[in-house]
Amino acid sequence: MSNCLENMNFNIKIQRLCLKCHHMTKLRFSTAKLPKHDLAKIRNIGISAHIDAGKTTTTERMLYYSGLIDHMGEVHHGNTVTDFMDQERERGITITSAAVSFFWKNHQFNLIDTPGHIDFTMEVEQTLNVLDGVVVILDGSAGVEAQTLTVWRQADRYNIPRIVYVNKMDRTDSNIHMCCESIEKKLDVSSILLQLPVVENNRLVGIIDVLSQELISYGSTTNKNISRTQLSKKEHPELFDKAQKARIKVIEQLSDFDDELANKVISLESFDSISTIEVVKALRNVTQERRAVPVLLGSSYKNLGVQTLMDSIILYLPSPESTTKVFSHFEDHFCGRAFKVKHDKQRGPLVFVRMYNGLIKKGQKVHSVQRGESEQVSRLYVAYADDYREVDQVENGNIAVLGGLKKTICGDLLTTSQSAYEKAKKNFLKKTSSQDSLEPQFGISARVPEPVFFCSIEPPSMATQNALDQALAELQREDPSLRVTYNSETAQTVLGGMGELHLEIIRERILREYKIDADLGPLQISYREEPLERLTEELRTDVKIGSIRNSVFVKLSIIPEEGVGGVSLKFDKSPESASNLSGLSRRNLTAIKQGIAVGLGQGPKISSPVINTTVMLHWFEVGRGTSDTIIVSTVTQLIQNLLKESGTCILEPVMLLEIVTPPEHLSAVMSDLSRRRSAINNVDMRGNSKVVSATTPLSELMGYSTDLRTITSGTAVFTTEFLQYQRMSPSDEENAIKSVRGF
Ligand code: GDP
Ligand code: MG
Repeated sequence: MSNCLENMNFNIKIQRLCLKCHHMTKLRFSTAKLPKHDLAKIRNIGISAHIDAGKTTTTERMLYYSGLIDHMGEVHHGNTVTDFMDQERERGITITSAAVSFFWKNHQFNLIDTPGHIDFTMEVEQTLNVLDGVVVILDGSAGVEAQTLTVWRQADRYNIPRIVYVNKMDRTDSNIHMCCESIEKKLDVSSILLQLPVVENNRLVGIIDVLSQELISYGSTTNKNISRTQLSKKEHPELFDKAQKARIKVIEQLSDFDDELANKVISLESFDSISTIEVVKALRNVTQERRAVPVLLGSSYKNLGVQTLMDSIILYLPSPESTTKVFSHFEDHFCGRAFKVKHDKQRGPLVFVRMYNGLIKKGQKVHSVQRGESEQVSRLYVAYADDYREVDQVENGNIAVLGGLKKTICGDLLTTSQSAYEKAKKNFLKKTSSQDSLEPQFGISARVPEPVFFCSIEPPSMATQNALDQALAELQREDPSLRVTYNSETAQTVLGGMGELHLEIIRERILREYKIDADLGPLQISYREEPLERLTEELRTDVKIGSIRNSVFVKLSIIPEEGVGGVSLKFDKSPESASNLSGLSRRNLTAIKQGIAVGLGQGPKISSPVINTTVMLHWFEVGRGTSDTIIVSTVTQLIQNLLKESGTCILEPVMLLEIVTPPEHLSAVMSDLSRRRSAINNVDMRGNSKVVSATTPLSELMGYSTDLRTITSGTAVFTTEFLQYQRMSPSDEENAIKSVRGF
């Protein structure tokens, strides 16, 4: 703690110094000027916002002020640094998370661009996973919007501290107090307003820093200097009065959360004598413990407020120190997470890694904990938006970009070897002495969302099939929530994804980046099948291929397990079976598993994957020299026989739905839900709004956003999330079969 405070004192001193002579802090690209590696001076942050709130514009200004770029791009000119994807430029939404490193006041900022659309949950979640803090941008004339709510919930799930930046305060219809109210009401968190707008003749001319009681004026567009004037009763009677009231309010609010500050206020019997350093310290704690959120404001477009926002990121958002603690169990081995894979035209696949421990070097071997595979890093870079600089090593806390990897996918936890991981695991269990599961601690159980929609994809010609397969393989590494499968019945490649926009964007990327004009079939809901009965059967294959005799004998059971979700393999433990299976080689087991996976891949009813199933292996015999392919096909055949005989029922994806609506529309919302086969789980109050939580089949949610807008005159917002696969009634099942077969 004292360390923290020292840092803070230091920061404030630096800030003062820097504000007086800003040119001294201009750090252009040069890492040489960065002080010795110091975790406390790193900020890994993301910026989240509703579309059009000003994320791109604000990022651009940050890069400009840090000295990383010379000219400011404007969104409507389509030349901003972070929006390097064509689609992003056209749609005006952020699809690929670009990482940008830059320096501000002796600190390194690693800005990780979070994707803007809710359909990209996998990408959003991977990004959130590696962030230490988030800046949430609001449009000053709109306050909290639908997507703000979604990103806020996601940041809640990952316990990420946040500050709010209210942008577009130059607009005459902006209202900072309305924004604070909407934060309290819709996000259900106390907002601590640290700045006030200074408006003259309907123009935003400056900002009051509530804590220091200073008037901040920002220079002209190209002038990076800002000036601070201490407010005084004599010269600025009105502003001074406002600022004082606001400062007292901040201290009052903070005293509710921070005992140390509360005691200080009581002992001093005055608000004025509380020093700014003390307030900053309390605010930092409250922010990092996520008990309240500091609110800053500005107009990025008019170049007001961005530098002070960056100062606040240093002051209130955490450094990587706390998040990397658990990874210190890796001792002198490096550890990091691959949170983004991007295919670069010149450099090939690039893997973005958030470093959690040690340092990574060029030429290093990296081992994926989840997949148990290793490969070599040939090049190492640091990313500056679409510009990469080669480096020899990247240290803990920072973002490394790895070149030359062929297998690593988004979400992998990387270290030097399996034994390094085993050792870290041991260290962890020794130190914690609790029975806590380690997977969530190391973040290797992060969920890959279920692809609930799918559609077929066809190349424009047979000649482009290979190129299409290649493109899909690359896109899958970038985005594991995209599933690519092959349906042998229809001889079609099938894409599975999170939503219509998700799949549409994949199609567009294939067109733009790979120049393949692929056709998408109609969007369909992804169903599953579940066996109806427990059954046991055996199968023998005996064939001569060439001069080699192939013989396999397998005995299996399928066991329905309602509600478990996946598929598992068990071994018959009876003495007879156990002695037969004890001779099973690893190679044969792999072939058996593969046969099961293929066999369960397409159920007998509508060719959907079969889940909620345990397969029990009772007996296995194999003749010498029998090929693996024969084993796989025998097991597949046996599974298919079992499924046909037992019969299956169809399972449909059911979503968790949360709707926030003004009370006057509650009954309309509820009666609409009841028409959608929904179960209402809960109705709550949040601020002045009603929050309805329900479970609803995905098939009933087609077009829901339009319908909800209509019945609530656009006043309600909703979020959905996959919950589980659920059995359907016979008549609903009939409808599902019709929709799948198209008749
Ligand atoms: P994003 O979708 O969150 O990345 O938002 P952009 O940065 O692309 O901005 C959306 C639109 O709002 C663009 O036309 C910007 O020029 C405009 N904009 C951004 N910041 C401001 C601001 O401070 N004031 C005003 N009036 N407009 C802004
Ligand atoms: Mg943008």
